[in-house]
Amino acid sequence: MIGLISATAAGAVARDRLATAWPDRTRVYEGPVADAVRAAFAECEQLVCFLATGAVVRLVAPLLGDKASDPGVVCVDEGGRFAVSLVGGHGGGANELAREVGGLLDALPVVTTATDAVGLPGLDTLGFPVEGDVAAVSRALLDDEPVALRAESPWPLPGLRVTAEGAYSIRLTDRLVEPAEREVVLRPPSLVVGVGASKGAPVDEVLGLVEAAVRDAGLSARSIAELATVDAKASEPGIVEAAERLGVPVVTHSAEELAAVEVPNPSGAPLAAVGTPSVAEAAALVGGGELLVPKRKSQRADGLPAMATCAVVRRPARGRLAVVGLGPGARDLLTPRAKAELRRASVLVGLDQYVDQIRDLLRPGTRILESGLGAEEERARTAVAEARKGQAVALIGSGDAGVYAMASPALAEASDDIDVIGVPGVTAALAAAAILGAPLGHDHVSISLSDLHTPWEVIERRVRAAAEADIVVTFYNPRSRGRDWQLPKALAILAEHRTPATPVGVVRNASRPDESGRLTTLAALDPATVDMMTVVTVGNTATRDIAGRMVTPRGYRWQEEPR
Ligand code: SAH
Repeated sequence: MIGLISATAAGAVARDRLATAWPDRTRVYEGPVADAVRAAFAECEQLVCFLATGAVVRLVAPLLGDKASDPGVVCVDEGGRFAVSLVGGHGGGANELAREVGGLLDALPVVTTATDAVGLPGLDTLGFPVEGDVAAVSRALLDDEPVALRAESPWPLPGLRVTAEGAYSIRLTDRLVEPAEREVVLRPPSLVVGVGASKGAPVDEVLGLVEAAVRDAGLSARSIAELATVDAKASEPGIVEAAERLGVPVVTHSAEELAAVEVPNPSGAPLAAVGTPSVAEAAALVGGGELLVPKRKSQRADGLPAMATCAVVRRPARGRLAVVGLGPGARDLLTPRAKAELRRASVLVGLDQYVDQIRDLLRPGTRILESGLGAEEERARTAVAEARKGQAVALIGSGDAGVYAMASPALAEASDDIDVIGVPGVTAALAAAAILGAPLGHDHVSISLSDLHTPWEVIERRVRAAAEADIVVTFYNPRSRGRDWQLPKALAILAEHRTPATPVGVVRNASRPDESGRLTTLAALDPATVDMMTVVTVGNTATRDIAGRMVTPRGYRWQEEPR
């Protein structure tokens, strides 16, 4: 039984909504709240108090006994905005109750126990169709009960705390199996169905054939990843419509490409019609994989010749490499998409200091492969190798992971047998610009002054080009202990084309706790105040200091107007 206690009119309204929705599960306790809480605590397995957390803490504190047997207590605030799991999160079921109450009252469930705060990998949000008892298995994951993972091939799942054996299970398979009790079945996108069709083949004939071929082979249609065919059939209505009804894309290949695929059942008819001896089998096999259903023709009730063929291939699992920019430092400059990818990962690869930046966001069960400075190519190789094994990998970098960072070394290693997902981040130049004002209002470039990977002559040539073209320049990696002459040299080149009064912004640790930003000039900048935590933005000839802010006009009007 759930005891309901409220003190105010608004509380009573919310309380009555619960009581009406769950007449058999709830009992309303009226009277002075202290007495009501005491009575409910003794009589009920759970309490929902429409009271401030402070009040409830004081009331239940003397009543608390044992974590395993105490009732779970949920508080709902006066505005009905939050359902807070206060005590008995697991044993008392308060976490689950907070979610249920939240769902019913449209309040945000607030759950602070460690496992839950990290968040549940919504089994239905992984992009794989899911069948079976999602609620029970999710709850088991939450409550740290043993959940066994049975994957027939290594499709990339997020970090899950799974075991070899368990009362609950997650099964990853394209086979036509019914989920057992306490089991969910996830359907990987493993099946490629090659389809051939004569002009005007009815959709029911195509779809019926595809579904029968998959079913007869003991496979689930929900694992179909795509219908594949020859270019010439790209807009054949029967194929297009069948794909639409299956919710999968039509992928087409040229006749030459298909003709080069070795197939068990070539024939003369498609060769004459579209220029390849096989459409269905070749289109299914063109990306590699195992032929599970060789060419099969449709059966027509009217006895007329078949108008469709199909073949089914199981393609190898594809790993997932997300290259994720974490932003300049502050948590609220980490994009929601980046956060989602971090939680989607089963393996995280990155520099130790960046891993520290987001460690609290990772799911328990995520494998962390961190390394120190340098080791960049090794990190890239590790990330790609893990993705090739079928893992969901997140490779992280500060700012944007594609800007002087991990994306290019990683993609240089990657082949087309993995999926690569790029998640942009707020790069240092932008974080600094927002602090300085609007220095990037017109054309701008970034130049790294690190000559570790780039010869100085190349860097100098680019600085000179930017100087001559009057482009605003942001210097990354401007100065380190061992590299102190490059910044003065670069500034001198710019000074050949810009006045000594040109505004220069110096931003150190943008969006980090010890952030600092200052505006100075080409003549006044002291390079000793610049280090590796800093970016330096040099204005163009139109950039001005306006009320202490660095502003580069957008170009039209301002410059033409007489001053
Ligand atoms: N991928 C990163 C850049 C890596 S290069 C990005 O997109 O921001 C490393 C250089 O970036 C540092 O030497 C510094 O010049 C600059 N940088 C990175 N984060 C910074 C921050 N929060 N504040 C100022 N400069 C930063």
